[in-house]
Amino acid sequence: MTEPRLSAALQRIAPSQTTAMTDRATQLRAEGADIISLSVGEPDFDTPAHVVAAMKDALDAGQTRYTPVGGTAAMKQAAALHFKRDLGIAAEPTQITISAGGKQAIFHALTATIDPGDEVVIPAPWWVSYPEIVRFAGGTVVPLATRPETGFRFSASELEAVITPKTRWLLMNSPGNPTGAVFSAEDLAAIAEVLARHPHVLVMSDDIYAPLTYTGAPHAALAALRPDLADRVLTVSGVSKSHAMTGLRIGVATGPEWLIRAMEKLQSHSSGNPCSISQAGAVAAFEGPQDFLVEWRETFRRRRELVVGRINAISGLSTPVPQGAFYCFVDASPLIGGKIADDGALALHLLEHGVAVVAASAFGGTHSGLAGFRISFAASEAQLTEAIDRIEKAVSVL
Ligand code: GLU
Repeated sequence: MTEPRLSAALQRIAPSQTTAMTDRATQLRAEGADIISLSVGEPDFDTPAHVVAAMKDALDAGQTRYTPVGGTAAMKQAAALHFKRDLGIAAEPTQITISAGGKQAIFHALTATIDPGDEVVIPAPWWVSYPEIVRFAGGTVVPLATRPETGFRFSASELEAVITPKTRWLLMNSPGNPTGAVFSAEDLAAIAEVLARHPHVLVMSDDIYAPLTYTGAPHAALAALRPDLADRVLTVSGVSKSHAMTGLRIGVATGPEWLIRAMEKLQSHSSGNPCSISQAGAVAAFEGPQDFLVEWRETFRRRRELVVGRINAISGLSTPVPQGAFYCFVDASPLIGGKIADDGALALHLLEHGVAVVAASAFGGTHSGLAGFRISFAASEAQLTEAIDRIEKAVSVL
């Protein structure tokens, strides 16, 4: 029998805990359990009708063949429109690539550029996949811990303190998952000054939650504010969150041409082109009406207020008000110890009470001295209310 030996690279990483918890909740529900899943970050709205119609038309027109590896010309044009209109970034189609979700663009960019020993600065709490991809590529994760008191934002001096000659990348995410941190134009201006002093550092700016900010200020994108840094900033975006198209897997990225070509080289051997039908849908998403987003944002804002108010009223739980995205990062440190050993055990305890959430430690919360869980508030107010009732009950028996 063949020995089940895995590569050293694979052994360095853990499975995605956001998707693992969501799969677990789906399985328990299929077995008849009454579980409310606040684990995965995915809008619960219907994909806009004009997007669905565009995909049906594409199917009827027989668009079921290969497309160019980095996306169709129409898709790259639509992405250029998105980058300019929504993020203020002027990009030529040659500086754009399309992938199977933002995650694939990030995976390809990092694995194409990281060698063993390279350091990657990741603000913590972080999105689960960033450190795993870095480790898979052989890089060293350098956590940059942030705290709720500062809205989970790091300062320019905190960044400068962790940059070394080995720093290859800084990974940024604003609005951020899992904390809802939003960096203002002023924050980014100070950070850009540091980056200007360290020209060997590449920056990945994951702006996929850009349409979902509650600050009232327009979204601030690093590559738009500092075009002089654009030759080393990779901006990642997509339609998953903005147009409720998570399952269709379309991510878009823009950056220097050498990096875009490298990502497409890797993609030519991994997946090939992103799904042709999904690309047709994403073209309609970017080129069609955007007005529904105002209503979606307002709905999320109401849910945010509901969740923050209820969570902070429960003894032992606390969360700051997230400024963007649709997550609350809940600290439950006072409840940990004794009966509940860690926040993984707390997440299992909540699951037993009918709510699926993801433990804060999955997002590197420990680096910030936090233990608790992330709530995705991309669920109806009725579901959120019932879920928090259950959380309250689960916490009361500890
Ligand atoms: N970004 C979403 C989340 O954090 C989707 C799941 C994933 O790919 O991690 O829940």
